[in-house]
Amino acid sequence: MRSDGKYERGTFSKKFTNFKKIYYNHTREIICFNCGVDLKESYVVSANRHRIRCLNCAHRLKIIPDIPQECIL
Ligand SMILES: [Zn+2]
Repeated sequence: MRSDGKYERGTFSKKFTNFKKIYYNHTREIICFNCGVDLKESYVVSANRHRIRCLNCAHRLKIIPDIPQECIL
């Protein structure tokens, strides 16, 4: 969050199925299910059973076919 209280980015989200989507995690304390990276203020992929991963792991594991251009900043 910026000092003026507005979000600078992170409006993009994409839903693949009811269980799989990409969204921007602004404030939750989440770590990637696979690599353990801190996912606060970054794009995350949530898939089955609330396992949340970073984009790189989701892509590597073929959970998502591509990392959307909007997520590469
Ligand atoms: Zn990861």
